Parts: sequence; C-alpha cells; structure tokens
Amino acid sequence: MEKISLVVPCYNEEEVIKIFYDEIQKIKKDFEEVSFEIIFVNDGSKDKTLELMRELSENDDVRYISFSRNFGKEAAMYAGLEASTGDYVAIMDADLQDPPALLKEMYEVLKSNEYDSVATRRVTRKGEPIIRSFFARLYYKIINKISKTEIVDGARDFRLMTRQMVNAVLEVKEYNRFSKGIFSWVGFRTKWLEYENIERVAGETKWSFWKLFLYSLESIVAFSTVPLSIASVMGILFCFVAFIIIIFIIVRTLMFGDPTSGWPSMVCIMFFIGGVQLLCLGVIGQYLSKTYLEVKKRPIYIIQETEKDKIN
Ligand code: UDP
Ligand code: MG
Repeated sequence: MEKISLVVPCYNEEEVIKIFYDEIQKIKKDFEEVSFEIIFVNDGSKDKTLELMRELSENDDVRYISFSRNFGKEAAMYAGLEASTGDYVAIMDADLQDPPALLKEMYEVLKSNEYDSVATRRVTRKGEPIIRSFFARLYYKIINKISKTEIVDGARDFRLMTRQMVNAVLEVKEYNRFSKGIFSWVGFRTKWLEYENIERVAGETKWSFWKLFLYSLESIVAFSTVPLSIASVMGILFCFVAFIIIIFIIVRTLMFGDPTSGWPSMVCIMFFIGGVQLLCLGVIGQYLSKTYLEVKKRPIYIIQETEKDKIN
C-alpha cells in the first residue's frame, strides 16, 4: 500500500486546523489502496494551535512537530519534509487556500510516471490588494531576468512530489531557504496545475507587505549573483565618464583659460557617486551577511515536542 504524507506548516492557525483535518478526511475516500499521514508543523504559534495538534494526534493518521519558537514557513516545510515517510509528499497550507480536492488529480499524474512533481500556480490574484499584486509581478519579472533558476509567477508552495524528489530537496541544506527556487533548482519533471486564487477559510494572512519584501530580497540573494556585478559595471561606466570629462576640461582650459566655477555641479556629482558607492557596498553587505549565516551552520529549526513526546 502506498502512503501520501501531507506536510502542513502552521503558525497561529487555531481557527482552521480542525477544518483542515475534516476536509482531508472527506477526500480520503477518493483514494483506494493509499494511506495518509498528516504532519502538522507548529511554527511557534502563540495561540491554541499546539493544543489542537495534540488532540488531533489521537488519530492514527496525524503526527506533529512543534518548534521551540517561530522559525518561518521555510523552516517548517523543511522539518515536515524531513519527518515525512510517505512515497509521495505534499506541502499544504493549513488555511485551505490549497484545495485538497486537487490531491487526487496530482496523485494520478505522478502515478502515470510521466512527472516527478505536480505543482500549482494561481492564475489570478483576486482578493489581494492592488499594490501588492503590482509589486509581486514586478518581483517575478526582475528575479527571472537575473536568475538562471526559473521562479514561476504565482507559484504556490502546494505541490505533490515523489520520494526521490523530496530526498533531493532535503539534500539542499542551505540556511537561507527559498523553496520556490529550490524546487526548481533540483530539476525533475514538473507539471503545473492552474487554479483561481481562493481566500483563506478563517484567520488572517501571516505575511505583511514588509515581510514579503524582505523575503523577496532574500530570494534574490539566494538565487542570483547579478546584483554583485552592479559595482563592477558602475565602476567601468564611471571611469569612462570621468575620462571624457577630464579631456573636456583640459581642452576647455587650454582654449578659454581657467575661470573658477562649477561648485553646484561638483556637489551633485559627489553626492551621486557617494550614493552609488554606498549602494554597491550595501549589496555586497547583503551577500556577506547571508554568507556569514550560512558559514555558522546553525540548524534550520529546533524541535521542542513531537507526537512521540506526548504523555498518554
Ligand atoms: N506559516 C508558518 N510560519 C510563518 C508564517 C506562516 O508556518 O512564520 C504558515 C501558515 O500557518 C500557513 C502558511 O504558512 O499555513 C501560509 O501562510 P499564510 O496563509 O498566512 O500566507 P498566504 O497564504 O497569505 O500567502
Ligand atoms: Mg494562506
């Protein structure tokens, strides 16, 4: 009998976790000869999420991992994948924005052996603030220009993978994780299913605009080194411009003498070049800080409790 593991990162999801479990029970009967394992990962929730997980783990098909603090969704996904034992593994949000009804179709695709992974992307951004959609689109344009790894616009983390691909993803042990990039980087054949955006059943999104912005910067640092060459390109450009200006000034002095003027333009140029230098330094700083964190080799997450620790 084959087993499907469902990895569900949860951060303050007390309102939806039970609904999620019930929905999964409903779709189970569509499957024959398949067992399920639901792995809830409690990412340092401050509400009753953990208590609900303990309760749910009374059921045979539920396991849970609870972190010692909030480590972020990326860490939660990694922990869940590491703990999973299924032949196929899916990552799903707890808020039912990833329709469980798709699992059957995904499973069928993988069974046919033509693909190693079935991923989902939403084709609309319905119910999202316009500014947020705008920046999201812009972000995908930029990252795909400067990164060799394809980052699909609107891709969700919801996907079903074969054990082989999961093991490949687990091999990528970097600390600054950006799963959308990692799934693409490990290769394998991926089929994309598209669906309209679904709003969460209850509770609210954990991603503020600022959090998303930082996450996007992180992903650029993780999957592209193009920003590092800004300094070199700017440097060459400025040397060239400086050379032309020098010639111009020498020629002008020889022809018209040397009247002292041009203080305002001088200040502008100094500010401009100073700004560019600081920008380049900042970019290098970004990469340096990420390198620093990688070199420390800190664990990606720390577990405080699992279903095995539960006192029965
Ligand atoms: N999540 C998490 N850790 C975090 C933030 C979010 O595990 O620090 C989980 C959250 O519980 C949910 C999933 O990641 O299951 C997606 O989060 P959310 O629905 O808030 O994001 P959105 O769907 O709005 O992008
Ligand atoms: Mg959501």
